[in-house]
Amino acid sequence: MSIAKSIPAGIPEMAFARGQTFNGVAGRTVDIKLLPNYDNRNGWHEILPEPATPNMVAGTLDFDYVVVGAGYGGLACARRLAELAPQSSIALVEADRIGNNAAGRSSGFAIDHAHNLRAKSFAEDPASAKKAIAFNRAGLDELERLVTENQIDCDLRRQGKIHAACTDKGAEMLAGFAQSLDAIDEDYTRMGASELKDRFGTDFYHTGILCPHSITVQPAALVRGLADSMPANVTVYESSPVRSITYARNSPATSHRLVTSSGTVTTPNLILAVNGFAAGWGLYTKHLIPLITWGSMTRELTDKEVSRLGGLDNYAIIPAHPAGTTVRRLPTNRILIRNQYTLSKDNTALEPALGKIVKVHRQSFENRYPMLTDVPFEYSWGGPLSLSRNGEGVFGDVGERLWATMAYQGVGLARGTISGKLLAEHILGEDSNLLTEMRAKGRPSRNFPDPFNSWGIRANAWARRRTAGLEE
Ligand SMILES: Cc1cc2nc3c(=O)[nH]c(=O)nc-3n(C[C@H](O)[C@H](O)[C@H](O)COP(=O)(O)OP(=O)(O)OC[C@H]3O[C@@H](n4cnc5c(N)ncnc54)[C@H](O)[C@@H]3O)c2cc1C
Repeated sequence: MSIAKSIPAGIPEMAFARGQTFNGVAGRTVDIKLLPNYDNRNGWHEILPEPATPNMVAGTLDFDYVVVGAGYGGLACARRLAELAPQSSIALVEADRIGNNAAGRSSGFAIDHAHNLRAKSFAEDPASAKKAIAFNRAGLDELERLVTENQIDCDLRRQGKIHAACTDKGAEMLAGFAQSLDAIDEDYTRMGASELKDRFGTDFYHTGILCPHSITVQPAALVRGLADSMPANVTVYESSPVRSITYARNSPATSHRLVTSSGTVTTPNLILAVNGFAAGWGLYTKHLIPLITWGSMTRELTDKEVSRLGGLDNYAIIPAHPAGTTVRRLPTNRILIRNQYTLSKDNTALEPALGKIVKVHRQSFENRYPMLTDVPFEYSWGGPLSLSRNGEGVFGDVGERLWATMAYQGVGLARGTISGKLLAEHILGEDSNLLTEMRAKGRPSRNFPDPFNSWGIRANAWARRRTAGLEE
């Protein structure tokens, strides 16, 4: 299905420079054809115990607030609304199982740095980098607080991330990254080949930079735990894709009406946290870049394989090159790798693309772990993330009693968490310096018209893969 076909006909998209709003949707009904379609290959989710039977929307329900999408943005927004408005009823409505969505398919890095996927060596200019770090660290602190307070069993560790290079080109990029950290007085530790080998077991990498503040988690366990520990005035619905929306209008005042496969929900106040699926709702049809990135996870290593490998039983590697390979060695004796970005206009990550992707994963794995070439992947999967051309996300009012938070540019754990929390504060009239800064941020710029947009994205991904070389 092409995105052009999935955009509802007759919905005028009215976007203004700051605080983009879509007042043209008020009172309209939209059949949502751009729906999540996840497979059951996500290793993080599959290795957890079977979840309880989902609580699905049934009959006709009414809530003071409805949040759609239980990724990082939606989870944080629903919780904060509930904390600030304890007398209000809040529904969090999710199409699939929580943990099998993009949030639970991620590599589990809650990253504090700016981490611009489009920039050479991830770096931003100093002023933007400082701001991004302040936001992201607020997201990390919030995640850590929630995990601690609710005793969520998701292997959260503030162990930092190691940016590691295996080529001269990669080492050059790390030098650029180090310079950008120096420019904003960020602490880091340089690491050489022997130190990296001691940690990683493999001698594949020769240069590294340890950035100590990032957090790692088991992402599917984290989002499940966040959903399970919602305040009492939040009702969580899963396996309940919203298939049609009638947007509220102000005069005469009506409610938003959401129809799922199994029931209907009405609410005066609707919050969308649906990642790249926003286009199906008639919003941001020309602003978001829907990408898929891909992960593979080995089966558990045997004791013999563990001793063949050596090194620590847990570490987290960010590639020196933005088109390189992310690696995690997990204390469960599995290894996770992630690489490649593909454009998917319908946000799905299904066959046949997966076959080609896994071949590349295999090569990347064997390059790094030649002592483990006989260890197969048990799971391989893709998941959607949305970027925008100018790197700005969606935050705030988008219509009549309609708000949205999304497009976290691949840094959803940190940015999604803080954006969702701040959006609830914005809706309920709270104030803080962070919220003021968030409101003042830019909004996603429009894409080039297609086919130029798609050509540009594909050409860019291809060129980056070529320059990444062995870093992939
Ligand atoms: C392989 C991979 C690795 C990644 N690694 C990292 C990482 O290490 N660190 C990091 O910060 N980010 C990472 N990301 C990106 C991260 O996963 C996303 O940025 C994040 O999940 C976005 O959060 P979200 O809340 O916007 O979206 P999602 O997690 O996608 O949540 C949106 C939800 O909306 C639901 N939804 C959509 N339409 C409907 C509908 N009609 N009805 C009901 N529900 C609907 C979806 O099912 C989904 O659950 C990675 C992504 C992938 C795929």
